[in-house]
Amino acid sequence: MRTALLQGSIEQFEIRKLICIGRNYADHAKEMKAEVPKAPMFFLKPSTAIIGNGGTIIIPPISNDLHHEVELTVLLGKGGKNIAPGDAMEYVAGYGIGLDMTLRDVQAEAKKKGLPWTLAKGFDTSAPLSSFVPAAWVPDPHALNVKLTVNGVARQHSTTANFIFTIDTLLSYVSQFITLEPGDIFFTGTPEGVAQTVSGDKLEATLTSPTGETLAALSVQVR
Ligand code: MG
Repeated sequence: MRTALLQGSIEQFEIRKLICIGRNYADHAKEMKAEVPKAPMFFLKPSTAIIGNGGTIIIPPISNDLHHEVELTVLLGKGGKNIAPGDAMEYVAGYGIGLDMTLRDVQAEAKKKGLPWTLAKGFDTSAPLSSFVPAAWVPDPHALNVKLTVNGVARQHSTTANFIFTIDTLLSYVSQFITLEPGDIFFTGTPEGVAQTVSGDKLEATLTSPTGETLAALSVQVR
């Protein structure tokens, strides 16, 4: 799946870059024993890492410790560079839910050696994505609930009100260095509760409104 679908619309976006924000919830930075960043920290995943709803995450043999990270995803409808924070929300086409699947053991080794995270974060099937709810249907993207269950048991549950950096800040910051394009997707960071997931698990992620309405949902399995 390399096309982003906007609910209730015939509009489709060919997906370009996946820009992933690290440590955007203080509780997650704490559980990773990492400092709360002073500026956004980000990395990229290739678009070949994407799978859609109903897809299967395949654990590469190099890892024995696949982790789930549930995250709000932000689809861009237009591109730009040096975007001012005050203009940034105009670039958003929609919101969804995604999983930043991470080979935690491979990442830990990379951190220790000062090597890139590309293998730990960008392997095939590491980016499950839901469809997107149009931005116009979401009055406040900083008041949404992100939730993940594994085999029906709650693992991660938080609200985007807990972001360290808001969406406008993230888009503006990254656009200073990397030109944003329509079809780019931001993964906005994961809350606390990241943990191992193993072959046979069923992962179900949802994005809900403050009143509990489901805006986007994603169900994938691990093999
Ligand atoms: Mg993440």
